[in-house]
Amino acid sequence: MNYKCSVCGYKTKYLSEAFDHKDVCKAKPNMNFENSPIQEEINNNAVLKEVQDLLEAQTAKGLEKYGNTVDVDEYTLSDWIDHVLQEKMDELVYLVTIKHKIKKVIG
Ligand SMILES: [Zn+2]
Repeated sequence: MNYKCSVCGYKTKYLSEAFDHKDVCKAKPNMNFENSPIQEEINNNAVLKEVQDLLEAQTAKGLEKYGNTVDVDEYTLSDWIDHVLQEKMDELVYLVTIKHKIKKVIG
């Protein structure tokens, strides 16, 4: 998969370089997958675009922080389940917090 800056035309096949480019390019670059009808569909759908941006930002963060991305051999099955359980617990707390916030703001 190649990434191409819609502003200056800079190309790279590496996601981390595509992300670094956002700091280098003077205008507000949009690193798109090249020649992909699927990417066009994503670009035209605000929800899908936001999901993609979040995944890419999270991936770039992982690369910067740990030098790698998700690795199936990093944990045992049981440990992976424990990670999911912890994330789900956080999600529950955040959802209840949001519910309280909504009630506070709009009643
Ligand atoms: Zn650029």
